[in-house]
Amino acid sequence: MPTYDYECTECAHRFEHRRSVHDTKLVKCPKCKAKAQQIITSVPVIFKGSGFYVTDHRKPGATEAASAPAPAPAPAKKTTTDTKK
Ligand SMILES: [Zn+2]
Repeated sequence: MPTYDYECTECAHRFEHRRSVHDTKLVKCPKCKAKAQQIITSVPVIFKGSGFYVTDHRKPGATEAASAPAPAPAPAKKTTTDTKK
Protein backbone atom coordinates (compact mmCIF):
# COMPACT_ATOMS: atom_id res chain seq x y z
CA MET A 1 0.00 0.00 0.00
CA PRO A 2 1.54 3.30 -1.00
CA THR A 3 2.33 6.02 1.44
CA TYR A 4 1.50 9.58 0.64
CA ASP A 5 2.74 12.79 2.07
CA TYR A 6 0.19 15.17 3.43
CA GLU A 7 0.35 18.64 4.76
CA CYS A 8 -2.16 20.15 7.06
CA THR A 9 -3.89 23.20 5.71
CA GLU A 10 -4.08 24.70 9.16
CA CYS A 11 -0.87 24.02 11.01
CA ALA A 12 1.23 22.95 8.07
CA HIS A 13 2.08 19.75 9.81
CA ARG A 14 3.47 17.23 7.47
CA PHE A 15 2.88 13.60 7.89
CA GLU A 16 2.75 10.43 5.96
CA HIS A 17 -0.45 8.65 5.44
CA ARG A 18 -0.77 5.20 4.10
CA ARG A 19 -3.90 4.56 2.22
CA SER A 20 -5.33 2.58 -0.56
CA VAL A 21 -5.65 3.98 -4.00
CA HIS A 22 -9.37 3.49 -3.78
CA ASP A 23 -9.60 5.21 -0.46
CA THR A 24 -10.83 8.69 -1.20
CA LYS A 25 -11.68 9.61 2.31
CA LEU A 26 -10.55 12.93 3.56
CA VAL A 27 -7.22 12.83 5.28
CA LYS A 28 -7.06 14.81 8.44
CA CYS A 29 -4.18 16.19 10.33
CA PRO A 30 -3.24 13.99 13.28
CA LYS A 31 -2.49 17.06 15.32
CA CYS A 32 -5.36 19.45 14.82
CA LYS A 33 -7.77 17.30 12.87
CA ALA A 34 -7.95 19.84 10.15
CA LYS A 35 -8.06 19.02 6.52
CA ALA A 36 -4.80 17.90 5.06
CA GLN A 37 -3.93 17.95 1.46
CA GLN A 38 -1.67 15.66 -0.36
CA ILE A 39 1.74 16.90 -1.26
CA ILE A 40 2.66 16.13 -4.77
CA THR A 41 6.30 15.43 -4.63
CA SER A 42 8.59 14.45 -7.35
CA VAL A 43 7.97 10.79 -7.23
CA PRO A 44 10.69 8.78 -8.80
CA VAL A 45 8.98 7.18 -11.67
CA ILE A 46 10.48 3.96 -12.71
CA PHE A 47 9.61 2.80 -16.12
CA LYS A 48 10.19 -0.82 -16.56
CA GLY A 49 10.28 -2.60 -19.77
CA SER A 50 11.08 -1.42 -23.20
CA GLY A 51 9.30 1.20 -25.14
CA PHE A 52 10.22 4.27 -23.16
CA TYR A 53 13.54 4.91 -24.67
CA VAL A 54 13.33 7.40 -27.41
CA THR A 55 15.13 5.89 -30.30
CA ASP A 56 13.62 7.97 -33.01
CA HIS A 57 15.66 11.05 -32.34
CA ARG A 58 19.05 9.53 -32.18
CA LYS A 59 21.73 11.13 -34.16
CA PRO A 60 22.87 9.12 -37.09
CA GLY A 61 25.57 6.81 -35.94
CA ALA A 62 26.34 8.78 -32.81
CA THR A 63 24.45 7.21 -29.96
CA GLU A 64 23.77 3.89 -31.42
CA ALA A 65 27.05 2.37 -30.39
CA ALA A 66 26.90 3.84 -26.92
CA SER A 67 23.34 3.06 -26.02
CA ALA A 68 23.03 -0.29 -27.62
CA PRO A 69 26.04 -2.44 -27.21
CA ALA A 70 26.05 -4.96 -29.89
CA PRO A 71 25.51 -8.47 -28.67
CA ALA A 72 28.18 -10.97 -29.18
CA PRO A 73 28.07 -12.03 -32.75
CA ALA A 74 26.53 -15.40 -32.79
CA PRO A 75 27.89 -17.92 -35.19
CA ALA A 76 26.11 -17.12 -38.35
CA LYS A 77 23.78 -19.90 -38.99
CA LYS A 78 21.29 -17.92 -40.93
CA THR A 79 22.26 -19.34 -44.24
CA THR A 80 19.02 -20.77 -45.33
CA THR A 81 20.30 -22.41 -48.34
CA ASP A 82 17.92 -24.80 -49.81
CA THR A 83 19.62 -28.05 -49.38
CA LYS A 84 17.44 -30.41 -51.13
CA LYS A 85 18.71 -33.76 -50.32
ZN1 LIG B 1 -2.85 20.37 11.55
